[in-house]
Amino acid sequence: MSTSSAQQETPRERSGRAIVIGGSMAGSLAAAALSRHFAEVTVLDRDAFPEKPDHRKGVPHGHHFHALLAGGREAIDSLLPDFSRRAVEDGAHTLSVTADVRYRQRCGWMPRFPGALEVVMASRPFIEWTVRELAGQIDGIHYRPRTSVLGLRLADGRVTGVSVKDEQSGAESDLDADLVVDASGRNSKASSWLRELGYPSPSETTVNAHWGYSSVFVRVPKGWDPGFRAMYTPPLGEGAPEGGARTRGCAMWVQEGEDRWIFTVQGAAGDYPPRDEAGLRAYVATIGVAEVDAAVAEFEFISPVQVWRDTTNRLRDYANLAMRPENFVLLGDSVAAFNPVYGQGMTMAAISAVTLDRELQNVPSTRPDALAGLAERFQKSLDGSIQFCWSTSTGQDYRVPGVELMVDGQAQPSPAGEAEFSDRLLAFVSRDRETYEKFMETTQLIRSPEWLAGDEVVSAIQADWDELGKLVLR
Ligand SMILES: Cc1cc2nc3c(=O)[nH]c(=O)nc-3n(C[C@H](O)[C@H](O)[C@H](O)COP(=O)(O)OP(=O)(O)OC[C@H]3O[C@@H](n4cnc5c(N)ncnc54)[C@H](O)[C@@H]3O)c2cc1C
Repeated sequence: MSTSSAQQETPRERSGRAIVIGGSMAGSLAAAALSRHFAEVTVLDRDAFPEKPDHRKGVPHGHHFHALLAGGREAIDSLLPDFSRRAVEDGAHTLSVTADVRYRQRCGWMPRFPGALEVVMASRPFIEWTVRELAGQIDGIHYRPRTSVLGLRLADGRVTGVSVKDEQSGAESDLDADLVVDASGRNSKASSWLRELGYPSPSETTVNAHWGYSSVFVRVPKGWDPGFRAMYTPPLGEGAPEGGARTRGCAMWVQEGEDRWIFTVQGAAGDYPPRDEAGLRAYVATIGVAEVDAAVAEFEFISPVQVWRDTTNRLRDYANLAMRPENFVLLGDSVAAFNPVYGQGMTMAAISAVTLDRELQNVPSTRPDALAGLAERFQKSLDGSIQFCWSTSTGQDYRVPGVELMVDGQAQPSPAGEAEFSDRLLAFVSRDRETYEKFMETTQLIRSPEWLAGDEVVSAIQADWDELGKLVLR
């Protein structure tokens, strides 16, 4: 999957004003993309932003582990070329996916070997802060914190700005824009804003496998070397160790600095992990993985345990609206929020912003009338990238007992997962380094997934079906 954002051969003069609703990951990255085309980009957020990397009210999920996939890092670097360098300079770690990460799947621990596929690891507040800092240094981008957007303004079928409320003074006013971008996250109100203006709301699909998180920052002993820099053992279902809990798993990895790690415990199918330290330690002990027990014994909890329950996959189909206003686009979680356990959200936000840049390169100018058709073209193009993440995320969740699929509020029978094939695929790729690395490049969204459906892989798995099945069920 290519995320590179080619520059225009002859950059045209930047003109006009764009407004972005939300100054989090998707909003800041969209602003960086827009700044290549618009003279002025105003980013509105109802929150106040911290001066240093820190938690904030508008991003309560920032307390939980956030993996930035290699494809996300690549897309961010294409929009903010200093991102990786700055993050590492400020304390983030570069980890080799195949050497530094211990990753357990149904077929056992995945292979580990020195490899070139690298990710940048840090806490969510750190990643978001670094992105906002760099975007804020771009000429033309201005952040306006403590400003809530109340709705969209419309004239002649075109969005012409937003109505806002200043959260400090309570004063309400209108702001004009040639293009408005909604990046206000999972709880975006854009579908009701559209309805208020007489447009249809998007069809909404949700898939809820009732996952829950409990997360805590922990201190590890100075010089601690467990033989990995990150470990992930998801709930393994029938592949769980004998006597181990099938619906429980956890992740741990180094955060910026050296002796602070994040420890996120996951439970699927409504088996939610608790919020107190003693309860959480007891819960983790039932996973049944000795390497986890040894690591957790070294952890000193240094923050309150935070819980998270809204892990529903939610897709709002803005690509196929029967009617839409011009000059209004949406990206990030506002369009597609995935079950976070698959670690795709920040990466999709970055890929969405790259897509916006690409679509804007194809319009003759940023004059409001020249943007006609952009909204539909962008949402359709974005949908193409969303579908792979959506099928990965929901495909896994359809295997979880009790999963609920709803379309526009109506319960639907959930499709049968392709469990037998996907388990064997994991066993297949784990057998040789080259294939495993290629597979990881695909799940890290830097390689197109097409090869996985190709004859070479499918026939090899079918030819070895029984043998691979034994690997899964050992
Ligand atoms: C528990 C959890 C764990 C996750 N783990 C991962 C992971 O490992 N890897 C990964 O890539 N992704 C992960 N994600 C997903 C990731 O956090 C999001 O996909 C990503 O942050 C993109 O979000 P966003 O910018 O679209 O929205 P958000 O980060 O939700 O930001 C929305 C912003 O809009 C502002 N806002 C909202 N409404 C208004 C309004 N009316 N007016 C003004 N401002 C407004 C809010 O204050 C906020 O700043 C996780 C999510 C959760 C919930």
